[in-house]
Amino acid sequence: MVQKLAEQEADRQEARERIRSLLNPHAPAVPPTRPVTKPAVDPDQLRRLSRVTRELNISNKQLGSTVHQAMDDMRNRLEQLKGATGKLAQVEQESAGEVEELRSLYRREAVERRSLYNKLLELQGNIRVFCRCRRSSASSSCVERTDEQEVVVVQKGSRKKFQFDKVYSQSSSQQEVFAGTLPVITSCVDGYNVCILAYGQTGSGKTFTMMGGKENPGVNIRSIQELLRICAEKEKVSYSLKISMLEIYNDTLNDLLTKSDGAALDIRVRGKSVSVPGLTQIQVRTEADILSVMETGEKNRKIASTKMNTQSSRSHLVVALEVEGSDEVSGLTSGGTLTLCDLAGSERISKTEAEGQRLVEAAAINKSLTALGQVFSALKCNALHVPFRNSKLTHLLQPCLSGDAKCCVFVNVSPDMKDAAETLSTLQFGSTIRQVALGKAKQNIAPAKNQ
Ligand code: ADP
Ligand code: MG
Repeated sequence: MVQKLAEQEADRQEARERIRSLLNPHAPAVPPTRPVTKPAVDPDQLRRLSRVTRELNISNKQLGSTVHQAMDDMRNRLEQLKGATGKLAQVEQESAGEVEELRSLYRREAVERRSLYNKLLELQGNIRVFCRCRRSSASSSCVERTDEQEVVVVQKGSRKKFQFDKVYSQSSSQQEVFAGTLPVITSCVDGYNVCILAYGQTGSGKTFTMMGGKENPGVNIRSIQELLRICAEKEKVSYSLKISMLEIYNDTLNDLLTKSDGAALDIRVRGKSVSVPGLTQIQVRTEADILSVMETGEKNRKIASTKMNTQSSRSHLVVALEVEGSDEVSGLTSGGTLTLCDLAGSERISKTEAEGQRLVEAAAINKSLTALGQVFSALKCNALHVPFRNSKLTHLLQPCLSGDAKCCVFVNVSPDMKDAAETLSTLQFGSTIRQVALGKAKQNIAPAKNQ
């Protein structure tokens, strides 16, 4: 269009020059663009030229007005666009505000849900004690389950009753037993420390309860499966899991995830956190990852015990799964640990058996389990000083036994008549711990009543 305009303008200019020269014969002649064959003044040509000039003028004016109109139109559209952009920016600002508001609401809700769930568990008792009686083919039994929460030990005609949060009979399945620990797994994903312990004499079913068999997995595998399920369900939270595995033998910590006989591991305390510098921690994602790491740990444990001529029942096994969560929406982070502990056999070794290495082992086990009992007793009476440092076991478990931590203890008993004395002693230990749970629960109920 612009080019056309320029061509027309040029034609017009030329026509004007020619007219001028024709009207004024004295003026210097404009060199003709085309050879002039006719005389200079030709009225016909003049008329034609004048008409062409008029037409050119008209079309020029039309073009000018079209361009003007187009410019106006463009200006209007630009104004409209400016207005729309402004509105868009405003809407964007408003929606950003709304998103921020929603985000903070979500953050508040998440914190509230976590704290309410924690309160609920506290009311049930931060330490819950379950009793499980091992299956036996014998016709007589020294243990009777009288109801869901009561068990009686029959010994030499006397009947001693014990109460627990739940009593599992010989016929209880692995799934039923695991169900008791289920609520605390959510708590672990929420960032609380959770500990599940099995206490009892050798042969009472601790390993069966914690580890179980391939076909019939125990609490360890089931709690890990549940933990992974909860993590996967929370779409907006990304989790990182790390597993470690150690045994405590003769009050010494051995890393089970490394082959080398490294230097003995120590426990370091920094503020409220307890760590074991140098302990192997393996990042895991899936159940298969975890199972494979645990298998390695079990193998290393067998090799170590064969080398030292010991039995696995003479050491405490501690599997810890560190769960770190990061909420993409609220920006909140959480860190909890699930500690699974298969304790060494609690039986007293007879004086005749206890000599040499066995005596040292028995003394170490006795010391650590006594320390565990003392810690629970101190927690029970809200003592200012809780003797966590009396053994490596209690020192390591400190974060799972204090503060907001949740602990489930299985007291495993044998129903065999010959084991009655040990069964009684195990249930007494469990009873002491259970009183801790009730003491805590009472404390937490009190403020609620006043409200
Ligand atoms: P602990 O670890 O306390 O020494 P185990 O878990 O090794 O005891 O149990 C001793 C034996 O009894 C094992 O052969 C185990 O499979 C079996 N057992 C224990 N509890 C049960 C149960 N509830 N049902 C069937 N078998 C059991
Ligand atoms: Mg065992």
